[in-house]
Amino acid sequence: MKKIFAAAVLLFTVTSLHTFAQQKQLKVVTTLNYLKYVTEQVGGDKVTVTALANPKQDPHYVTPTPRMNEVTTNADLFIENGLSLDLWAKNVIDASGNPNIGVGNPGHLIATINVPVKELPTEVSRAWGDIHPQGNPHIWLDPLNIRIVAENIAARLQQLDPDNSAYYQQHLDAFKHHLDEKMYGSELLDLLGKKGGDILTRKTKDGELYSWLSSRHLSSKLGGWMKMAEPLQGKEIISYHKTYIYFADRFGLKIAGELEEKPGIPPPAQHRDEIVDLVKRDGVKVILNDNFYSTDAAEYVASKTNAKVIVTYIDVYSSPEANTYENLITYLLEKILKAES
Ligand SMILES: [Zn+2]
Repeated sequence: MKKIFAAAVLLFTVTSLHTFAQQKQLKVVTTLNYLKYVTEQVGGDKVTVTALANPKQDPHYVTPTPRMNEVTTNADLFIENGLSLDLWAKNVIDASGNPNIGVGNPGHLIATINVPVKELPTEVSRAWGDIHPQGNPHIWLDPLNIRIVAENIAARLQQLDPDNSAYYQQHLDAFKHHLDEKMYGSELLDLLGKKGGDILTRKTKDGELYSWLSSRHLSSKLGGWMKMAEPLQGKEIISYHKTYIYFADRFGLKIAGELEEKPGIPPPAQHRDEIVDLVKRDGVKVILNDNFYSTDAAEYVASKTNAKVIVTYIDVYSSPEANTYENLITYLLEKILKAES
């Protein structure tokens, strides 16, 4: 009898603990898939994350569906890119009827806070103002911005779930260290010790990485993406949309021009021909065309020049090569390096 009672108590305890663990998992909904990926790295097994957009879709234009409202109804946290990229998020939030995730509440997070935004409308032509009214929102193809996004997400998870604060901090530190290894190579990071990632990040942001490494006789120790990108320094590329500004600046590429003159409108013949002239004049070899845009204009330019069209995926989980954020960056660099060689 005693044994049966003990077994029943044990079963009850195990079931309760299990239920408790399930209850403690925060339900997170993100607009884009890179945000899901980062949240999973930082949140580990304390979160379940659903991304709303298809990673192959144009992130500017996503049509809310009943399924999106369903997964959002019980969310503890809704994470969006912000910067007017995923404006469609507002419709989903409103339709969910979930007060926790309303804008301004702890359950709503704009992941790009503190990211230095480029191409603010006051600084550049207003021609792009209608699609990028808060500056260029395509911040995530710069790994240093992902460090900031990860910090923002970790801080919000800690606020919503303070009991697991140390867990999120540990996961954030590990993810940042992993990104640093991908960025600079593990040999260099090991040599520089605990603060190495922060030092290299600062030097890179200040544009002093190469001179700093050289002054310390560490240039030969550089690895990772920054080493991979060395042959790309100063190379000009064309892109369809203004998707690659942050990526190009980080890895030393120059965007010579965009095929898309006005967002959402196929490039007029005159603009295509101006790009043809530019490609010929500067010997541009690469045209990046996001997978969800027509390649007609890019193919036209390629047919008149020596440039190659690369159809690119820009979000995590969009293709087998881009099954992680890290692999997405490696895939983009490899594609461009191959076309440049
Ligand atoms: Zn855009």
